[in-house]
Amino acid sequence: MVVGEVAVETDVVVIGGGPGGYAAAIRLGQLGKSVTLIEKDALGGVCLNRGCIPSKALIHTAEQYHNLSELGQMGIKLPEAATSPSFNMEDWQKWKGGIVSRLNQGIAHLCEKNGVTVVKGEASFLSENRIGVETGGDFETYKFEEAIIATGSRPILPSFLPVDGEYIIDSTAALELSEVPGKLAVIGGGYIGIEMGMAFAKLGAEVTVVEMADRILAQVSPELAKEVEKKAKKAGIKLKTSVKVEEADVENGQVTLRTSGAEGEEVIQADKVLVTIGRMPNTEGIGLSQAGVSADERGYIEVDSQCRTKVPNIFAIGDITPGPALAHKASKQGIVAAEVIGGLPSAVDSPYIPYVIFSDPQIAGVGLTLEEAEREGRNVKTGKFPFQANGRALATNEAEGFAEVIVDAESHVLLGMHVVGADASNLIGEGVLAMELAARVEDIALTVHPHPTLTEGWLEAAEAALGHAIHIVNN
Ligand SMILES: Cc1cc2nc3c(=O)[nH]c(=O)nc-3n(C[C@H](O)[C@H](O)[C@H](O)COP(=O)(O)OP(=O)(O)OC[C@H]3O[C@@H](n4cnc5c(N)ncnc54)[C@H](O)[C@@H]3O)c2cc1C
Repeated sequence: MVVGEVAVETDVVVIGGGPGGYAAAIRLGQLGKSVTLIEKDALGGVCLNRGCIPSKALIHTAEQYHNLSELGQMGIKLPEAATSPSFNMEDWQKWKGGIVSRLNQGIAHLCEKNGVTVVKGEASFLSENRIGVETGGDFETYKFEEAIIATGSRPILPSFLPVDGEYIIDSTAALELSEVPGKLAVIGGGYIGIEMGMAFAKLGAEVTVVEMADRILAQVSPELAKEVEKKAKKAGIKLKTSVKVEEADVENGQVTLRTSGAEGEEVIQADKVLVTIGRMPNTEGIGLSQAGVSADERGYIEVDSQCRTKVPNIFAIGDITPGPALAHKASKQGIVAAEVIGGLPSAVDSPYIPYVIFSDPQIAGVGLTLEEAEREGRNVKTGKFPFQANGRALATNEAEGFAEVIVDAESHVLLGMHVVGADASNLIGEGVLAMELAARVEDIALTVHPHPTLTEGWLEAAEAALGHAIHIVNN
């Protein structure tokens, strides 16, 4: 310690107030630890301020707007003035701002009620039990028993793309736009690119998605991605797969993208270009080496099932750890790290981390896909039920998609459950619980599912795997 330095003593410091960090801090407070949560920006992290919540607010708005055009089909006649609705993105920003600020305040309130001290500032390790925090001109030192690193991630921005935040933008800037771009090019057909591209298309933008791989949503089964591809094309989105962006120029308020692909070179003109080619962990500049913690060459910190790094009193959680960069993974790890510090026998011991993509239609899943099960050499049975045969899906005019179960052929234990269709994000809850409880396909098939609901898709997919679905012809 520097002579004369006065360090504030705390049991635990948590660096980063995203869904990983704040969940950890609250749980530590519940377990009676003194906790200091250090956040340099806003509580809630990427998820609340520039990720999950604002993007889903945009997607929901876009859907509402778009659905107006389908009302006529259902016999709803709007007065003439209402048949050409308009969208004001500045008003939307105010509405979104209200949601974010309510949730920010909610987290601050929960921290306070659980005895968490929230410090606004930028933290970096000084040693394995001290941390320095820059708080607008001041520098404070904290001495801790344990620390949890939860500094999250940021967009990858390739050096050849002049990302200026105005014409070539990342997802954060896209969610801050004050108007819908006339022509939007999206580089990257992963889930963030597709979610945002589809939302902006529904709000009136002419959208082109450029993806280097041979299909969009490469992280999910091709069959599931195909349903989204169909709908994206129907919505007028141009999907350019196996195409690489070589260069981008901004001139006179227009961006020119030069691309190369199987069909040769091409030029795409856009008012805005959204870059969504992945995210990278925020692990530089936080003094990892002073604490003795190391990151791999991509910046990720390896942890064990208790979220402990190689330094026994330092834990790492969320997007800075290997595995999917998802808010629910971060929160789970945060709670586990807090409980381990609190002396409880906690661990991240389940392989069942669901994924959800808020495309149109939505995709969600848990466990192995058919391709993964086959790669592992498993002997599997599958059961698939199309939403076209589901009464609720037809009655709500959302008949695209299907539910699929993947089952071990001998034991009938569920290996994976995947769904593409309306409300897939909510439907997967049943799948995660079933898999977590090591259910067999009969457990789903014998469970009475309420009618008429989309959840019957699981029931019939399970029955189909057993060869006796009622509402489709069994193979
Ligand atoms: C557009 C978009 C949509 C998304 N949609 C979804 C979705 O639908 N579902 C889902 O599960 N996930 C989604 N995600 C991913 C999700 O946002 C992240 O997985 C999640 O936020 C990770 O949580 P975290 O706690 O690890 O870190 P973060 O949320 O990144 O929080 C880290 C925090 O640490 C702070 N920080 C960093 N360094 C320091 C420092 N030195 N000192 C103090 N504070 C520091 C940062 O300011 C930040 O607030 C989305 C992401 C984006 C970008």
